[in-house]
Amino acid sequence: MNDADPTTAEEPVVPDIDLPSDAFDAVLDALGDLAPDDRLRFEGFAVGRDPGAEDAYVLETAGDDPRTGLSERDLHAALDDRAPRVTDWYVFERVVGEFGPRRAFLRWIEDADGATVATRYAALAEGIERAWGQLRITATVTDRGERRYEVRHADDAGVPRAELTAHDDPLDARDVVKLDEKGRYRPLKTAPTLHSGWVFPELGPRDAYELVETVYPATVANWHREREGDLDVTHWREAMARQSGIYGVIKTWDRGEGYEHVNWVAEACCDDSQCLKRREWQYDDETDLDVDGGDGLFPCREPCSVVVSAARRWTRLESEQPRTYEFELTPSEKEQLEAVVDAVADGRIDEIREADTKEGANRYRARFLRAKLFDDAGNLGGVPTDPDDAE
Ligand code: SF4
Repeated sequence: MNDADPTTAEEPVVPDIDLPSDAFDAVLDALGDLAPDDRLRFEGFAVGRDPGAEDAYVLETAGDDPRTGLSERDLHAALDDRAPRVTDWYVFERVVGEFGPRRAFLRWIEDADGATVATRYAALAEGIERAWGQLRITATVTDRGERRYEVRHADDAGVPRAELTAHDDPLDARDVVKLDEKGRYRPLKTAPTLHSGWVFPELGPRDAYELVETVYPATVANWHREREGDLDVTHWREAMARQSGIYGVIKTWDRGEGYEHVNWVAEACCDDSQCLKRREWQYDDETDLDVDGGDGLFPCREPCSVVVSAARRWTRLESEQPRTYEFELTPSEKEQLEAVVDAVADGRIDEIREADTKEGANRYRARFLRAKLFDDAGNLGGVPTDPDDAE
């Protein structure tokens, strides 16, 4: 049955929806729990128990006289005529359930707090696409008003399903997220290194949410907290103060003598090219970092274990005193060393073709530099790292 949106001049093409018996039963259950004067509200109409007749119902539609004395059969017919709005209520009130991150996320996917049911059902019939990190989520509606979600890697947009490895169980995502494209372990789940080639073709609302939570743990919860104005952020200094045991060493690096070192940490680890979260933590409550937090959809509320562990390494390295070394380099060699560091830091090494000897980080160029400048012990320019090692 069609249920056109009464509020728009150009009516969206709403797909035909049959009212499933579980949705009707859920309405009857809800009515059974209502006080006689209460109403069960849907978009644009409400139903309730008719206080004037036993086992009868009332239907109230904006702008019309109420219809009273409806039998269960009449009520079913009336709700079937409005099946999109009834199934929409059923999906979010009964299938998705309680208020919280899951419900907010699934409603966000189809803009359920902004668009009318008719607009959304018309869009769902075509497929509503949303990005979440590297995930591409496509929401659709069945002819019974149920939601279905297809989730795949954003890089696989447009790839026929048959060419992707299909999974039904959202927990299969634990294997999907473990390794990157090259088979390396992914210590940071929000790093943009999710491998492609898989699809979860037809998930229900709860499974779709569980899949997203498995791929990007706690991202929906923190996104939801932020939307509710409730995101509790733990800044760097506070987070470091909490470190104990071996990680306590970081506190020695954080002596309150400026925060340049924290800028370097954030630039190294939290940049959009390295992590899909938007860094909301700063140096402390009063001191923002100079580097940008990024454009990620979901926030990062505290330094993660990867950052803490890397900072611990840097703490050790940064405790060394600088020394002056003397090397002789041609201008091109100096620039080449800079190009090598840049290419490694940006993860571009694999993109540099063997034949492209214009690139400083080209493998042959690097091998030539090593052959020319390193001694047998691997010292640049034959200069030992520790002067005591000099013969
Ligand atoms: S601390 Fe940085 S790297 Fe770690 S999750 Fe947050 S934004 Fe990402």
